[in-house]
Amino acid sequence: MARAPLPTERLELLMGWGGAVGSAAYIYRPSTVPQLKEAFSNARVMGRTVTLRGAGRSYGDAALGRENVVIELTRMNRILAWGPASGIITCQPGVTIKQLWEYTIEDGWWPPVVPGTMFPTLGGVLAMNIHGKNNFKAGTIGEHMLAFDFLAASGEALHVDREADAELFNAIVGSFGMLGCFTSITLQLKKVYSGDVDVKVLIANNLRELIQIYEENIPKSDYLVGWIDAFATGASLGRSIVHQANYITPGTDPTPVQSLRLTHQNLPDAIMGIVPKSIVWIFMRPFTNNVGVRFVNWAKFISSKISPKKQFRQAHAAFAFLLDYVPNWQKSYGKGGLIQYQSFIPKASAEAAFRKQLEVCRRESIVPFLAVFKRHRADRFLMTHAVDGYSLALDFKVTARNRARLWKLTEKLNEIVLAAGGRFYMAKDATLTREAFRSYLGSETLAKFKALKARFDPESMLESELSRRLL
Ligand SMILES: Cc1cc2nc3c(=O)[nH]c(=O)nc-3n(C[C@H](O)[C@H](O)[C@H](O)COP(=O)(O)OP(=O)(O)OC[C@H]3O[C@@H](n4cnc5c(N)ncnc54)[C@H](O)[C@@H]3O)c2cc1C
Repeated sequence: MARAPLPTERLELLMGWGGAVGSAAYIYRPSTVPQLKEAFSNARVMGRTVTLRGAGRSYGDAALGRENVVIELTRMNRILAWGPASGIITCQPGVTIKQLWEYTIEDGWWPPVVPGTMFPTLGGVLAMNIHGKNNFKAGTIGEHMLAFDFLAASGEALHVDREADAELFNAIVGSFGMLGCFTSITLQLKKVYSGDVDVKVLIANNLRELIQIYEENIPKSDYLVGWIDAFATGASLGRSIVHQANYITPGTDPTPVQSLRLTHQNLPDAIMGIVPKSIVWIFMRPFTNNVGVRFVNWAKFISSKISPKKQFRQAHAAFAFLLDYVPNWQKSYGKGGLIQYQSFIPKASAEAAFRKQLEVCRRESIVPFLAVFKRHRADRFLMTHAVDGYSLALDFKVTARNRARLWKLTEKLNEIVLAAGGRFYMAKDATLTREAFRSYLGSETLAKFKALKARFDPESMLESELSRRLL
């Protein structure tokens, strides 16, 4: 492509959410579909490829495009139609999960699948086909989409219906912004009869107990999430705290009108009523190192174990968005930021594979500061990350000294995942290699995806740093 002069006033430095990867790009923020088309035309004229971006909440480089035109969809953020009786909502792609639940909860509807943060956009979560703490039961967000409008990179506009166009639907959902842009999304929400969920705290003394707890509780849980203390070794390797949560059945909340109010859902503005949340990450910074996190993990595990409070009611937002309690907590990791490495392993090999991963991290002296464990189910989406099994998401601090070693460590972790028949997840990724990508997806899936790319994006207009690395 011939390159035209560039509008330097549009040049911005964009970072992945973890702050470990970033690059400068020419940013456009359309508020209408005609403006979106114009941004594509501008890119053609400038001889640039395009990266789509939602709220930039992917940990790595999925929404980055060095020297690209980046089209950020956050201004296309209107709710287009809402049925308080049916729970069906139609939104523009820049509507966030926060906007969504705040709009519908007082009518008794909650998003059926949410990530650990409420700030992603619907376009972004659909492009990655995100999962929540209820993946084993509710599947991914794509399973709750009824239809969407889509502007392919070729300029073709499509309306895709879950039933009538099942194959196309299952291929576009999860296609990580490589085929075109969602321009409107219709979603079926989940009826709730209270603004709270019932939460139970369960303690696992090691990895085997953790998996046993999950398998026993799956039939009786709506949500399950586990935090592993990755510093624990030997007989305690995999020790963890599990939170199980269940929706409240009709008639069991004596005051549902009150609990469904926004005021009941809002996360507190200050920690212990004193410290403004916006500055808490600064106080976390001195502890975000091996010694500090080892101590915090130990203290959290012991206090949860001995605490008599093993059951409580919690507002939906407080349970779902724990990671939003401290805004910008990722900054506490320092200048180098963090990467998250999440892998998905079939049930039969999960215990052995995750044990090996934790041991390799210890051996290489790069221990993850946060390790989150979830149960998943397989699904029908072409580019799926899910398996009938478990995932472990590991947050690693990145420093100038450990960066090269850390990237090498992820290759060792990849080998364990591939040997166990596992998968990876592009929403979190910053390090995956092309070989590992090909290996887990398989040649048939990749061929199907490339055929769709040729159909919807014949000029290869859509690229991200992640796609340059993997495709
Ligand atoms: C603290 C935290 C917790 C998280 N917890 C979870 C979790 O529990 N489960 C989970 O699955 N994920 C989780 N995530 C990841 C997050 O949900 C995904 O990365 C999601 O895609 C982010 O949405 P976004 O709007 O920020 O999109 P971005 O990160 O900006 O973009 C993501 C992808 O979507 C594409 N895209 C964006 N908008 C559109 C559009 N309109 N049309 C087509 N493509 C588009 C982009 O090209 C890119 O490939 C978490 C992230 C954070 C920071």
